[in-house]
Amino acid sequence: MCAAPATTSTCFTTFRLNESTFSIREEDIYGEHPLIYAKIFQDPPLLLLSDTGCGGHGLSPDIEITSLREYLETYPISSNSSLPLNPHGKLPYLIICTHCHYDHILGIPHFTTPGSNTTFLASSYDPSFITKSLPTHSLCHHLGIETPSYNVSYWADHFEKITYDSLSLNIQILHTPGHTPDELAWYDRTERHLYVGDTLYEVGPGPEPAPIMFPKEGDLIDYMQSLRTLKSFIAAQNEEYPSRPRVKIGCAHITSSVDAAEIVDEVQALFVYIIEGKVPIADSMKQRGEICDFYMEAKDAKFCVRVPRRLVDDARRFYHKHPALLSF
Ligand SMILES: [Zn+2]
Repeated sequence: MCAAPATTSTCFTTFRLNESTFSIREEDIYGEHPLIYAKIFQDPPLLLLSDTGCGGHGLSPDIEITSLREYLETYPISSNSSLPLNPHGKLPYLIICTHCHYDHILGIPHFTTPGSNTTFLASSYDPSFITKSLPTHSLCHHLGIETPSYNVSYWADHFEKITYDSLSLNIQILHTPGHTPDELAWYDRTERHLYVGDTLYEVGPGPEPAPIMFPKEGDLIDYMQSLRTLKSFIAAQNEEYPSRPRVKIGCAHITSSVDAAEIVDEVQALFVYIIEGKVPIADSMKQRGEICDFYMEAKDAKFCVRVPRRLVDDARRFYHKHPALLSF
């Protein structure tokens, strides 16, 4: 592919997050605006991608670049010395799938064309969530769109330190089930940045607040445990290297770089209040056959939540029996 002029229209915008990593925001017809992260390695030569976005589905034909791969390989990025992130596609790809929802995997087909050198990594917590019923679990079936086909070749274990070509990437995987069983977080030890997918994010600046969402396959008890896991992991990193910058968090929507310990604390507190029945339901709607409630403490609240009522009821029953597990 030839380099594209900077005037080429595209549904992606990029800014540099840190020395090695870029945050790419996609405009899409679903209103998801996913944040995709691209980290460039020199040794081994590699482009690590965190998710692939919505694949340009249904966008106006006036937009010239809707393929994430074409964008990465041809579009000049001003914060990258006006070079594409992966000129001529020279770097192989390692795609970390934070989870298999459609707005994270629809860009995958561009990376599986013949001759592509792409490795797909996913959580080993419950592989069957991805290998079985992906059209349902990805929500593609619900939306009436084709489900991408891909083979995960790197099933990463909880706390696994990942390698590529037998070389350490200084990246660690954390299993964080809750939003979905396959939800994961990955920690870049070099940049001290933790990427948490859809586990949490802020409401955002848009006219409609973006809720932390749970599909019917979610689990609030697992979610609370995953927040504990994140909290203790972040605390350990901050304590181990007190002279280094505190760990930051990047999410798959809206929030790309905030203090990790603070945001996890705030989200944990909100969910404790929800489970304790201290946050009133602001509205309810039916989604995929289940009543889903919307929680937002105030108009200017930093977070809001949309969750099937059944998941909250399950969590309330569980923590009624195990109240100590709800205190952090
Ligand atoms: Zn999701």
